[in-house]
Amino acid sequence: MHEFTPEVEALAAEVLKYSLERLKDDPPLDGPRSAEDLFNEVGNTITAKGLGGHEALAVFTNVLAKACISTDHPRNLAFIPSAPSEYANLFDLVVGASALYGGSWQEGAGAVFAENQAIQWLIDLAGLPATAGGVFVQGGTIGNLSALVVARAEARKKHTPAGRWVIACSAEAHSSIASAANVMDVDILKIPVDSKGKLQGTAVAQAIDTLHSTTNNRVFAVVATSGTTNLGIIDDLKGLGKAAHDRGVWFHVDGAYGLAALCAPSVRADFDGIEMADSFIVDPHKWLFAPYDACALVYRNPEMAKEAHSQHASYLDTLKDDQWSPSDYAINLTRRTRGLPFWFSLAAHGTDAYTEAMEQTLTVAKDAAELVRNHPNLELLCEPELSIVAFTRNGWAAADYQKWSDQLLEDQVGFIPPSSHNGQPILRFAIVNPWTKVSDIQMILDRL
Ligand SMILES: *Cc1c(COP(=O)(O)O)cnc(C)c1O
Repeated sequence: MHEFTPEVEALAAEVLKYSLERLKDDPPLDGPRSAEDLFNEVGNTITAKGLGGHEALAVFTNVLAKACISTDHPRNLAFIPSAPSEYANLFDLVVGASALYGGSWQEGAGAVFAENQAIQWLIDLAGLPATAGGVFVQGGTIGNLSALVVARAEARKKHTPAGRWVIACSAEAHSSIASAANVMDVDILKIPVDSKGKLQGTAVAQAIDTLHSTTNNRVFAVVATSGTTNLGIIDDLKGLGKAAHDRGVWFHVDGAYGLAALCAPSVRADFDGIEMADSFIVDPHKWLFAPYDACALVYRNPEMAKEAHSQHASYLDTLKDDQWSPSDYAINLTRRTRGLPFWFSLAAHGTDAYTEAMEQTLTVAKDAAELVRNHPNLELLCEPELSIVAFTRNGWAAADYQKWSDQLLEDQVGFIPPSSHNGQPILRFAIVNPWTKVSDIQMILDRL
């Protein structure tokens, strides 16, 4: 069936060389080009006779890949970037080459076993009971949606509200919560944060009680964010967990970015209360040194998730075998064993290396905040709680920020697109890359 011709072997060597050398010697960040521009250079790559592997790879590595910004460049501090370890990236090649089916235990037992051990590390860090379990889904958006679907299924067992189902969260909650509410056709109760940007348990308790006593609507989930995407702020998890559980409401923690730092002793106490979560998510593709795309979705009681998500059909009956099948725990059936690059890197390096890398990024963030504080033209927005450093430039309007950012990328120095806070433009460094040095930060600050 498979033909291992000399051409295939030569191509394999080329692929490996490319993947190993991509980030050597301070490479460029690259950047977007127009579709017209790209077409003028590569033409139509889909042809009747084919380009051949060597040529198609060259088109990709020489042109198309260079029209994509490197998300793992040490001076890409945009949005939440990515910083997969070399081991994780290399093992992604193995995953791609192994034809693994990650939807069921029957087909993917060994791979699912490994994924589950990686998830177990996260469960232990969070302090959830041994009965907890989870699955790697595509991203935080699908993770949040899958968890919230289970939360509502559980609420439906207890209540039949005359009004609407409602998710309670802060105004700073990630856009994916609004997306989930939209898909589920439920409402959102946005509760104001305190002066430090944190959602507090008392505010949530009061808001839920008012809603329940004055309307027919019913809250089925409290969503905490730990930490927020814009500023890295961690909600009052203890207070929110208690407010939710006192009212028989599901407690979900969206830690797509921030919960990665559970492995960092210096900030672990800020996550106290996470052990109360009925579900949580964390994206290894953000701050746990794994490639796209992998979100760890964890449930305190996976049986509830199975009840809500398991698909039933005659052709699937053979899979209802009481084994752990990942497709039962989220909105997915066929799935790539996307947790394996994370597993391999964690297994090979050991968890101490993760703690060390995490603390390194936290230290660079602290140092960056100090440099911003001492910069004559900049104002630090708030002390970084995790690894996001946000600030403003004196005397600049929104257009000035954008112009500066465009030029920074144009000159291949860094990728720092502006964001905003309370309607005011800001700049932010999201530091998730252990290869980002204080000298990288200084290089960027010198241009402000
Ligand atoms: C990034 C992020 C998400 C969405 O995760 P994706 O993997 O991009 O779908 C959700 N919540 C928070 C807090 C995030 O930072």
